[in-house]
Amino acid sequence: MPGNVYLLNAEESHHATRVLRLSVGDEIGIINGQGTAATAAISSISGASVQVIIHALDEPNEPVIDVTLYQGLCKGDKLELVAQKCTELGVCRIVPVEFARSDVRIGKDESGRISRLARIAREAAKQCGRAFIPVVSKSVSFEEMIHELVNKEQQHVIIPWEKDTHRLMDALSVMTKHNCYSIVIGPEGGIEQNEIDWLVDIGATPVSLGKRILRTETAAIAAVSILMYTRGEM
Ligand code: SAH
Repeated sequence: MPGNVYLLNAEESHHATRVLRLSVGDEIGIINGQGTAATAAISSISGASVQVIIHALDEPNEPVIDVTLYQGLCKGDKLELVAQKCTELGVCRIVPVEFARSDVRIGKDESGRISRLARIAREAAKQCGRAFIPVVSKSVSFEEMIHELVNKEQQHVIIPWEKDTHRLMDALSVMTKHNCYSIVIGPEGGIEQNEIDWLVDIGATPVSLGKRILRTETAAIAAVSILMYTRGEM
């Protein structure tokens, strides 16, 4: 609400005073990470802590559609690229998935992986002016992903698969306009036939992203872009 006063956390206070060198009276944009963005002014700086007062709430800039990306586990830099770009494009949640052909396994570095991806999603949301910071969930096995998908009603599950021939855009044009979508992207090694069969059994729709085989990170960015474009978000 305009007039409300908030304290920035330690990291953001440091960023405001030491990196941006802002002082009392300067205007900044702030987000709560849950969908609210506002214009605020710095009202006081005491030691390392910055207080701001809200001037006005900004127009919400979240897409109407809610998109979860189930991304096949792959090397860290690729996952990080996917987290950054898909945050900019408007996904709400990113879940790394271990497929049969994932050459990267959930393994020991799991907590480091998830906290790095969450930090990248937060930075990307801030940079692109998004008020909602996508949730990065812990990695799941293929079976856990299926379990999640089955339990989520009223949604479309889309699997880009290089062996399919139906264009994503055409598949979307005949789908009812639910607001909830999940996109499942295979790892570099691809998705096995029995994994595709299992996904189809639970109602997922395989689609093509064209005749060329895209790298896993390209496929994720392309699929999210086409979905956002087709549903009027771009
Ligand atoms: N190793 C596989 C390709 C994997 S590409 C092979 O060489 O055959 C990684 C993932 O990107 C795939 O599992 C799929 O989800 C997606 N993908 C890549 N190219 C695609 C295309 N042309 N159409 C649909 N999905 C594609």
